[in-house]
Amino acid sequence: MNKQIIENIMTDYNKKRLRASHDAELKREKLYAKLPRLAEIDKGLKLFSINLSKVFLSRPEDFDAQVKTLRQEIEELKRERETIYKKNNIPKDYLEIEYECTKCGDTGYTNDGKRCSCFNAQIINNLFQMSNMVNMLRKENFNTFDINVFSNENYKNEKLTPRQNMYSILGICEDFCNNFHTSNMNLLLYGGTGLGKTFMCNCIANELLNREISVLYQTSFSLFETVENHKFNKLNETEENRINYNMIFDCELLIIDDLGTEVSNSFTNAELFNIINERMITEKKTIISTNLSLEQIRDTYSDRITSRIFNNFVPLKFYGKDLRFK
Ligand SMILES: [Zn+2]
Repeated sequence: MNKQIIENIMTDYNKKRLRASHDAELKREKLYAKLPRLAEIDKGLKLFSINLSKVFLSRPEDFDAQVKTLRQEIEELKRERETIYKKNNIPKDYLEIEYECTKCGDTGYTNDGKRCSCFNAQIINNLFQMSNMVNMLRKENFNTFDINVFSNENYKNEKLTPRQNMYSILGICEDFCNNFHTSNMNLLLYGGTGLGKTFMCNCIANELLNREISVLYQTSFSLFETVENHKFNKLNETEENRINYNMIFDCELLIIDDLGTEVSNSFTNAELFNIINERMITEKKTIISTNLSLEQIRDTYSDRITSRIFNNFVPLKFYGKDLRFK
């Protein structure tokens, strides 16, 4: 789990609790201004335990009798308060702090020390937000994947028909998800446009996010933009950019979509190597999708990048007719 996400959520909880107690305090002040007798009663009730210890210290000999008197006073005050509440139609719990989540009082943890359901919901929410995929994922996941859009007729010199090929790719991608924590598989999705590469990336992301695995989705263009902002524009870097930059290295799965569409130069080459290499060292997984052929990848990127990719990524070739016009 990403540390930054947990920190953000805990900060949110703190804010919520502060706001809730501040709101309750304002309500109390208003109520007291309207009904000053309530202020006196509440003050009297608060003094109970102080008075109790005073009695015990000064006159321990008739402590019991004194306590009895005090208790009667307390009961009287409470009755009086109840009458005032009733007369003014004030609900009993009017001054209680109203937390957003009644189960955990906006602490994120229930009484038995377990993560509250609202905490888990926050995590998933944050992972989704951070993966930049919220809207896309509702539409594109393994359940909406339709294998029948792929032709079952032979395509050029390929041994498998596009549909058979997609069956095999689908199987590998599902394995990738099911064995996410035990394998050290990375994926290279390559082939022409409109053949379902991005769709497949979204299916994987959706599946893993549902399992609370942190996923960062970046197009190649936005990825290098993030890195550039972080390195060359530190003073004006936004909080979002900083989080995204850290996520490039910290998230459990990084998806780089459309590799090859960035402006390729020595800076992007060095940074790409750094990202792929760093993630391999820390055993984090990466998926690259690209319209480039394997030859073009070799021609575009430095040897050390291509050797990392060819040795550590499972290549999945997408082919067939462009589906976007169907
Ligand atoms: Zn809760």
